[in-house]
Amino acid sequence: MLEEVNAWPIPCECGQNHNDVLVEKLVINEGALEEILPFLEQKSMSKILIAVDANTYEVAGQFVVKLLEDTNVTTKLCFLDPNELNDVVADEAAIVQLLLSVDRDIEVVLAVGSGTIHDIVRIVSYKMGKPFISIPTAPSVDGFNSIGAPLVVKGVKTTYKAQAPIAVFADLDIIAKAPKELIAAGFGDMLGKYTSLVDWQFSHLIGGDSFCPVVFQITKDALDACVTNVDGIAVANKSAIKILMHGLIDSGKAMLLIGQSYPASGAEHHLSHYWEMNFLQTKRRQVLHGAKVAVSCQLVADFYHTVVKNILLTIENLPGEDDVIKKVSENQKEILEWIESIPDASQLKELIQKVGGATVPEDLGIEQDLVKESFRNAHLLRERVTLLYFYNEYIRTNDEINVIQE
Ligand SMILES: [Zn+2]
Repeated sequence: MLEEVNAWPIPCECGQNHNDVLVEKLVINEGALEEILPFLEQKSMSKILIAVDANTYEVAGQFVVKLLEDTNVTTKLCFLDPNELNDVVADEAAIVQLLLSVDRDIEVVLAVGSGTIHDIVRIVSYKMGKPFISIPTAPSVDGFNSIGAPLVVKGVKTTYKAQAPIAVFADLDIIAKAPKELIAAGFGDMLGKYTSLVDWQFSHLIGGDSFCPVVFQITKDALDACVTNVDGIAVANKSAIKILMHGLIDSGKAMLLIGQSYPASGAEHHLSHYWEMNFLQTKRRQVLHGAKVAVSCQLVADFYHTVVKNILLTIENLPGEDDVIKKVSENQKEILEWIESIPDASQLKELIQKVGGATVPEDLGIEQDLVKESFRNAHLLRERVTLLYFYNEYIRTNDEINVIQE
């Protein structure tokens, strides 16, 4: 599918001009790091800064430094410091720390690590007008090649526009050895596409969000490939981990192509963001993004299969002349089919259990009160007419949601 997209006629069949946003070089292989030097030479880049933390220096950073020894490339390291909870966070402190270590003559910044280090590098390099190269150390998230950088500024998490990397080098020898919970998180981020794709179809129909069938299919193919290979991913088999990493990168590309997070982020991500903000406010240690999405997509699947489905089945009984209700009613059959495309929560749970991920909010320290609150409010975090938004804004009466999550 992606090869086709690389040779895409512009505008696409969906009528939009997808920007030329694909990364120049993508290598997901054993020994991928050895291709960094030839790439730098080809780009005539010889002054680089490598952003790492203590862990990612151990697993990949020191190896990159070694590979570039005795070459024309001069390297400088920036060790990003963890906060008082021992997490590296994409916040003011980390941004300033990296900013101050990027000398004016640095030509490219290498992000060596998982999602957070990428977000710090993504924003700093973008603001300084320098390109960056992605070196993931775990298949943990679909944001490596995104242009958005979710940052914590003054205690609030907001996504800022930044840039995608010019190249991604994911070494299978490294990412297949990543801690199990990081692999499970990447798989969980992919599972969230079951609900995000349905929310995208709905927000296109009702909210008028742009839609592209090719981009939809890229995301769906990536998701299906990961699910088909769940057993291999569970044992960190290299060929299965390669498929997971490809899936995450393809999901990122889908977002780049549409210029929005629509394909990859629906109600399940809004719940996850809500929980994350609560953890920030209550100064609790963060939980992996994909681990939250793995849990939230089960809750959303269950909610859509039960509460939302029942509403749709009886929508003609709803009073009023509301345009949205009318449109939903007219498209009832199609929306029900979309919901049917989401596996049951129990099937999702089984998949997550296979990779050793958490299955219920309590496993992640997320209490039921917070879950309930997020079901009522998380849809307000983004301007998207997801099915959860529809439920909350058009259907729900105040006391009703208490029955949903018992
Ligand atoms: Zn995600």
